[in-house]
Amino acid sequence: MHLTVPLLINPKAGSLFRSGLKSWLDEHRDDFILVPTKSAEDLTAKARELAEAGEPVIAAAGGDGTLMNAAQGLVGTQAALGILPCGTMNVFSRELGIGSRRFDIALDAIRNGDRQDVDIFTVNDQPFLQMAGFGPDASIVKLITPKLKRNMGAAAHIVTGLKVAVQHHPLITITLPNGEEVSGTQLIMGNGKRYGGEAHLFANARYDDGMLDAAIIHQESMPILFEILGCMLQRGATRSNVSQFTQLRTFESCTITAEGKVDYQLDGDYAGTLHPGEIAVIRRMPNKLKVCIPRTPIPVTPFEQIMAHPMVAAWKSFIRRAKDF
Ligand SMILES: [Mg+2]
Repeated sequence: MHLTVPLLINPKAGSLFRSGLKSWLDEHRDDFILVPTKSAEDLTAKARELAEAGEPVIAAAGGDGTLMNAAQGLVGTQAALGILPCGTMNVFSRELGIGSRRFDIALDAIRNGDRQDVDIFTVNDQPFLQMAGFGPDASIVKLITPKLKRNMGAAAHIVTGLKVAVQHHPLITITLPNGEEVSGTQLIMGNGKRYGGEAHLFANARYDDGMLDAAIIHQESMPILFEILGCMLQRGATRSNVSQFTQLRTFESCTITAEGKVDYQLDGDYAGTLHPGEIAVIRRMPNKLKVCIPRTPIPVTPFEQIMAHPMVAAWKSFIRRAKDF
């Protein structure tokens, strides 16, 4: 039986064309029924309606933000989310082994893949899929306006990064369920290993262990960014490779307070500002999200890519046969 999957899509999104998804979909008309959406709220509502109507898989085309909106409609239902990753970074999709803009792999995950339960955490009841940051990283994304991004491209991050780095950073304190308090100027929490693109920030994080991994960095100005870069260059922080300025914790929930105004971001989008005297509550949602993932994740490291090459596979089977002979 050929299953046709509803695909939530914003027909006006520029990413649809830039990523090549539009032309790929033209060649896969029989696989999907396009469900156009007008806004983020509309996308969440339509995802929920389709799930309640009994659709086993509901696909969404977009980046992390769009997938979050679809997830909000699907969490706690029996329906699995199918991901067509056509955003810029596609961090969540990479984390799940689907990669970025690999639509054939995405379709295979929907048709033949596994159904994976994924934890969803919230900041003051606002959910995020991959990561949340309190401090300078959030101030940077807050300052990057769409116009600045258009005019400067990736350089916009560097310019705003420098601007934010020279500001004063108020102290942020997280309080864990056991009462322990950890303070720093930049807090990053990860549901998975990746922080941006393929850059790993948490070497041992898993999206299905019920825990959030966190790095609390206690530094001023530019060294905050160096700490983050240092973790990424080591392919993720572990307790044995971080510097004395970074502390790692894992927890199911925590509360956050700050001495001064602190911006926060969810999945790379500015989400709000925490004021002195306010408390941000981090929690895990009681229900998990089901996601379609490929049986074999796409190769990421150069070594994995070499080993996955058809020539290498051919040589491996040749050597096996030679041994048998
Ligand atoms: Mg986890």
